[in-house]
Formats: sequence, structure tokens, C-alpha cells
Amino acid sequence: MVVGDVTTGTDVLVVGAGPGGYVAAIRAAQHDFDVTLVERDAYGGTCLNYGCIPSKAYVSATDIAHRAREAEHMGIHADPAVDLEGMAEWKDGVVTRLTRGVEGLCKQAGVNLVEGRAEFAGETTARIVHDGAGEGAETVEFEHAVIATGSRPVELPGVPFDTEGVVSSKGLLAAESVPESLVVVGGGYIGMELSTVFAKLGADVTVVEALDSVLPAYEDDVTAVVRDRAADLGVEFATGLAATDAEPRPDDTVRLTAETGTGESRTFDAERVLVAVGREPVTDTLNLDAVGLKPTDEGFLDTDEQCRTALDHVFAVGDVAGEPMLAHEASAAGKVAAGAIAGDPTAMDQQAIPEVVFTDPEIATVGLTEAEATESGFDPVVGEVPLRSSGRALTLDEREGFVRVVAAEAGFLLGAQVVAPEASELIAELGLAVEMGATLEDVAGTVHAHPTLSESIGEATEAALSRAIHAAQ
Ligand code: FAD
Ligand code: NAD
Repeated sequence: MVVGDVTTGTDVLVVGAGPGGYVAAIRAAQHDFDVTLVERDAYGGTCLNYGCIPSKAYVSATDIAHRAREAEHMGIHADPAVDLEGMAEWKDGVVTRLTRGVEGLCKQAGVNLVEGRAEFAGETTARIVHDGAGEGAETVEFEHAVIATGSRPVELPGVPFDTEGVVSSKGLLAAESVPESLVVVGGGYIGMELSTVFAKLGADVTVVEALDSVLPAYEDDVTAVVRDRAADLGVEFATGLAATDAEPRPDDTVRLTAETGTGESRTFDAERVLVAVGREPVTDTLNLDAVGLKPTDEGFLDTDEQCRTALDHVFAVGDVAGEPMLAHEASAAGKVAAGAIAGDPTAMDQQAIPEVVFTDPEIATVGLTEAEATESGFDPVVGEVPLRSSGRALTLDEREGFVRVVAAEAGFLLGAQVVAPEASELIAELGLAVEMGATLEDVAGTVHAHPTLSESIGEATEAALSRAIHAAQ
């Protein structure tokens, strides 16, 4: 496409079509604004194309094979052959279906879709740059802009992504074969989810983590179950070691060097090295100076509770606006920004944003932990039930994990931590409870269907009220 000196006008310019941007664009169109959404790569952003969706497709597919393989004691004798090419084809089909869906939904809502890179040219002007030989640019004049340019993986200087054998999550999720050995640098969300996937695919996995524990943001008893299960899968943990260098070796492996805090070093050889040490905001695509915005020292765009930047008419949502870097937070912020542009009294409420790690079993949390509640001045009441007290868990052949609720003295739910299969689904009820200011009595008085895992939520609130039926007090 060759584009010349065309100038168009729009009420709302949205830059980036990930879960922050496309949701902001559709919501702004629902408010009857003329909306232009610019994407330089693929509709759906990191989440649909390289992140949440492909990784969860692999989490599910590898789990099916793993569970079938481990079900002899249930009378099932199977040894499924895993064909990574077939699995990848299925995963790519899921991605295509969803990304086309996003494109279709935007069009149906009347959003003008523009392919190219948007960069600011002035306070209310942007250029859409179509990179590549012989391609021009067009100018868009806007009243409001929503920046939703997302994030990219942090690169370790000594372990650059252009080293043969070193990959980011995007590279590993596009792998055509299962490496015999995989070293995962960083035991955070990505590291733990993908080490589970590749261990289930048969790779020898070692996680090298700089801090003393993997998933360091979570309480120790929350991560213990996941660490033990991963160890059962053969995952090895090397904690307290920060990766510093990677060197390709003549036998097509990579030698990774990592150092302890006191400078002792250890090396790890593997066919592939995944670097997953966090993500950094993308703002260098935008020519921010021209609009008059400056990122923070960490590169994020500061926003208020309506997602407004230092400029009244420019908003920022999703990963580019800071932690938590989660797709559902990005979408929630997209709705808030569009509402604020329409003059609604809308605001981001961070207290009930769930966080989920799709490990085996899953971890899901919302709101405050007991320690955070205490730090915030509450005298919290805690109720916890082990998963093994759930009939449904046993019929799923699961027993490790728990549901814990944290409430204020007056009974209002402040937070919850769940370690269980489908914790990602169970956390929805607890998120609603925190969001609505429900009390322990409200949740305990809610009848949960039997046999379901959600009964453990009712039981945990009963435990907090010192009257659990199925767990010793
Ligand atoms: P993005 O999805 O990154 O989209 C930003 C878009 O902006 C991109 O498409 C980019 O091409 C475009 N862009 C950038 N600059 C310009 C420009 N100047 N002009 C035009 N377009 C531009 N989160 C969860 O909640 N759950 C999960 O299970 C989960 N799993 C993940 C797994 C992996 C492997 C990864 C990497 C991430 C995962 N995340 C998950 C995080 C999630 O992907 C992000 O939080 C989410 O994508 C952020 O959405 P966003 O709209 O802010 O940005
Ligand atoms: P992360 O912040 O979750 O974990 C990074 C880990 O790398 C940390 O434990 C850190 O201590 C460690 N680390 C840093 N430098 C290191 C070094 N030199 N050597 C060894 N370890 C080192 O980051 P991530 O796993 O890359 O994920 C990025 C973001 O993507 C997450 O913060 C999250 O917001 C999002 N994400 C979410 C999900 C989900 O919601 N299920 C899944 C994947 C990614």
C-alpha cells in the first residue's frame, strides 16, 4: 500500500490493537465517537498472538496428554503420542479465529482500522507510518488519543535474543520441535507456565531464578504446591542465581552462566534458553516528544485513575501504563479511558483485579493477602480449607492446594488465594465478593452446587467464621 499526503480527522485515535487498545476503540465507538485504531503488527496484540492465548492453548493441550499418561491408577491405560506440529497448527487456528474476531468486532462497531505505525507529529496530530520501501505516511488529526502500545520482553545484556538458541516466550511458543533440554531464565509467570508446558512435552527443564524462590510475588505456601508439582514433572530449580552470559557451543547447545549474589558462578548447558525476566513498556514507537509526553524512568506512562496522562486529551492503558501487566487489566483500563473521554464518572479500581498463574495446579489471587491486610491496618480474619476436603477435587484426581479467604474484622472480604485446578475460574466469585464488599456471611450463605470445586469457597468462608463442616477447625 502506498499512501501519500492524506490528512484525515478523528475524534479518538487509539494506538495499538491489543486487549487495551481494541477494547478502548470499540467502547469509544459505542459512545458514538469517530474512532481510528492503528496497529503496526497484528490485531489482538501480544495477548492474542504471542502471549495469553498461544501459551494457554499449549497449557491445555500438554495437560491433556500428561493426564492421560498419568491415569493408570484410574483404570486408564494410554500413552498419547504428542505431535508438536499438529499441536502448533491447532494453536495457530485458535489464534487466527480470535484475531479475525477482533478485526470483525472493530469493523462491526464502526471503528476505522489502519495498518501502520502511529507516531505523534504534534499535540493533536499523528502520522501513520507504513514502514518499508516506497511507502509514505498519512496524517491523522485527533481530539483524543489512547496509547495502548503494550510491552516487549526485557533483554538481558549478556544473554541477547539474537544469540543462537536463546529465545523469548514468542520464540519458544513458535518452536517447531521440542528441545531435549531447556533452561528457563526467570521463574516468574512466563517461566513457570512454559517450564510446565515443556516438561510435559518431555524436555529436561531447569529454571534459573535470581531470587530465592520462583514466583517471588506470591506467598510461600501458595507457590510450594506448584514447585512440588513441577519438581515431580522433572523441573529442576536453581534459585539465587542471576543469569549473566550466554555463549553458543559447537554442539549446537548454549552455555548459560549465572552468578550468586556473592559472585560464585554456575553454568548450564541446554539446547534452548528461554529468557523471561519481565517485560518493558513500548513507547519508542510513538515520537512522544512531539505530543509533549515524557515516560517515567522505567519507561511507563503515568496516568490518573481515569487513565489520563499528564495531557488532558491523551490517555494510556495496558502494559504501557505500568503494573499489573495483565490483559484483563488492559481491557478494563480501555473501557475506563473511553468512558472518561465520553465524560462518564468512571475510574479504575485496582483492588479486585485477579492475578492467575496457569501452572499445574493453577494459582489465582485477588485483593489482599493476610500480611497485606495487616499492613493496611486491618485485624484480618482468615479462613482456609485444603483441596483434599473437596469431593469434586478427589473425583478430578486432585488433592494438593487450598482456598483461603481474608476478611476484615467486620466480615468484608478483602482478598483470597486459591491453589487448585481451575483456580482461574474459581477466583471470579471471590473477585466479585471483594468488588461488591460482600461479607463472609454473604458468601457462606450462597449455596454452591455439589459436587464442585466452588464448594471450597463457601467452606473457606465458613472456616473464617469458625464453623466449617468438612474441615477440622
Ligand atoms: P499489547 O497486547 O502488547 O498490544 C500492544 C499493540 O500495540 C501491539 O500489537 C503492537 O504491535 C502495537 N503497537 C506498538 N506501538 C505501536 C505504534 N506506534 N503504532 C501502532 N501499533 C503499535 N496476561 C494475562 O492477563 N493472562 C495471561 O494468561 C497472560 N499470558 C501471557 C503469556 C505470555 C507469553 C506473555 C508474553 C504475556 C502474557 N500476558 C498475560 C500479558 C498480556 O499479554 C499483556 O498484559 C497484554 O497483552 C497487554 O495488552 P496491551 O493492549 O497493553 O498491549
Ligand atoms: P515476571 O516479572 O513474572 O518474572 C521475572 C522473573 O525473572 C522474576 O522472578 C525475577 O526475579 C527473575 N529474574 C530477573 N532477572 C533475572 C536474571 N538475570 N536471572 C534469573 N532470573 C532473573 O516476568 P515474566 O515471567 O517475563 O512475565 C512478564 C509479565 O507478563 C508478567 O509480569 C505478567 O504481567 C505478564 N504475564 C502474565 C501471565 C498471566 O497472567 N498468567 C502469564 C505470562 C505473563
